[in-house]
Amino acid sequence: MSTIDNLPPLRDVITTHELAAKKSLGQNFLLDLNLTAKIARLAGDLTGADVLEIGPGPGGLTRGLLAEGARRVLAIEKDPRCMPALAEIADAYPGQLTTINGDALDVNPLEHLTAPIKIAANLPYNVGTELLVRWLTPPEWPPFWESLTLMFQREVAQRIVAEPGSKAYGRLALLAQWRTDPRIVLELPPEAFSPPPKVNSAVVHLTALPAPRFPADPGVLNKVVAAAFNQRRKMLRSALKSVSPEIEDHLNAVGIKPTERAEQVGLEAFCALARSLENNPA
Ligand code: SAM
Repeated sequence: MSTIDNLPPLRDVITTHELAAKKSLGQNFLLDLNLTAKIARLAGDLTGADVLEIGPGPGGLTRGLLAEGARRVLAIEKDPRCMPALAEIADAYPGQLTTINGDALDVNPLEHLTAPIKIAANLPYNVGTELLVRWLTPPEWPPFWESLTLMFQREVAQRIVAEPGSKAYGRLALLAQWRTDPRIVLELPPEAFSPPPKVNSAVVHLTALPAPRFPADPGVLNKVVAAAFNQRRKMLRSALKSVSPEIEDHLNAVGIKPTERAEQVGLEAFCALARSLENNPA
């Protein structure tokens, strides 16, 4: 028996269900249930909350989330081999675990969840950033989720919390910091996983703010930031020419030097630029 529930240790689960890790699915499993329970605690108080988990694999984090008192967990897993192992967890927590065998990019989780909703996952590296961008750019704000507690490669985690002037600063930092409070809350070495990945990992906790830090139209801001960082070595007056022929006037109007590069410009200034472009379109 394991330390957090009455189910077998994860190593036994993997052997019983023949879950040899597949690289193509980004499978690096966490086998220490004390660690998965710790990650579940980093998601905050789970009692009374529904949790969406992407890529449960053999169920280490799933068990952590349930042991830490989640009201309900919806776990979406692409690998059909994992479903029997997950069914054993569902039997141990009657009515609390729903599993879907499918691609997280295609499933609408809202058909299965009730607010308040938290998202927690040790994300598959191949779809992690795409899912994060989707969760950060919903049609309406506040989003359907209260917080995201996500394991990434450390390099991606650093891009989410990066500050202006740093190499990691870019679109992901601005997108995340505009409407959430993102923090790196745990760093893990490769040995924490089986098989160990080549890089370090980190858990990022992002809390949804009730409203954006600075007003801006999401579409305009996204367009400006994407164009600015697409050509991050160019001066902004050239990098943003495609956004507006009068870009130099807009930059001057909001106090950004047209000769500046994107990585020197903070969130507040980008939002001011987006407002200027929206209010005075070319
Ligand atoms: N949560 C488990 C853990 O912490 O040990 C497994 C994490 S492993 C890094 C990523 C998991 O995501 C794998 O189980 C993999 O099969 C699954 N996965 C990969 N691509 C997926 C997708 N598009 N949709 C849902 N699950 C996916």
